[in-house]
Amino acid sequence: MPRSNTKVRFSSAGAHFFDRVSGWNVLVDESVPPKESWARAPRQVSIALTNRCDLACAYCYAPKSREELNSETVKGWLEELDQNGAIGVGFGGGEPTLHPGFVDLCRFASESSGLAVTFTTHGHHLTDELLGELHGHVHFVRISMDGVGATYEALRGRSFAKLCDRVRAARKIVPVGLNVVVNASTFADLPAMTELATDLGATEILLLPEQATTHRTGLDGVMRTELQAWVRGYRGRVRLAISAQDAAGFPTADPFACTSALDSYAHIDARSVLKKTSFDREGVAIDATGVVAALDHLRHSP
Ligand code: SF4
Repeated sequence: MPRSNTKVRFSSAGAHFFDRVSGWNVLVDESVPPKESWARAPRQVSIALTNRCDLACAYCYAPKSREELNSETVKGWLEELDQNGAIGVGFGGGEPTLHPGFVDLCRFASESSGLAVTFTTHGHHLTDELLGELHGHVHFVRISMDGVGATYEALRGRSFAKLCDRVRAARKIVPVGLNVVVNASTFADLPAMTELATDLGATEILLLPEQATTHRTGLDGVMRTELQAWVRGYRGRVRLAISAQDAAGFPTADPFACTSALDSYAHIDARSVLKKTSFDREGVAIDATGVVAALDHLRHSP
């Protein structure tokens, strides 16, 4: 039987109604549901299906290894997360479209669970054929676009015109957002990016201040302040969003601010380790007792 597209999730914030097709969200917070009804899983879980990627962005923090998750294991986690109150899963990597079970997992999540299915991709494998296979089985796609034109091509080593063509193709079957790593190379392109996002029909730009890695220092304080000022002055039509760990100092609206970070989000890496964020080095290995048991463990770890 097809799964309903609408889900209700109870937490200390109230009753959250969500429709995965329209993206419609309503939080009824006039009263707090009984504690025994609260969700045990976070609202959103990202899963790095593989560490493999065929690009070599200098600021990438994903480990470059061949680790990859087993599809049947992931399906078990998806069922568990769905039954325990998660409302969305985001497949990532590495590059998730390189995982051999990628299409099958998107189909499984959309047909056998009530989870909203999203994935983050560099976009260059979104052929018409792949998009046809995904049609109706994903609810939002995040495509990485660090700068426009020559900036993008210098950073990602791929054709910008071809990327725009793939964004337009994806937009025909699913709402699309653009992910932007903000650093000294891409900051000046933000106004052009927001105009292009409108032209491409993207509904959101996710700002990702560059993170420090062993080789790079990440976005410095001066540029972070400039980015905050730019966001405050932004009047464009496309919605802006920012990663939760970088939200301090930005004008954000978070109706779930009263809940814990783990109630909002968790990440599973390609080694089956559950973490509070994708940037964390340590976490809890998910064993045969399942992902919700690992979440309980992570919740009580320092
Ligand atoms: S496309 Fe993404 S995963 Fe691949 S190297 Fe670039 S930042 Fe890393």
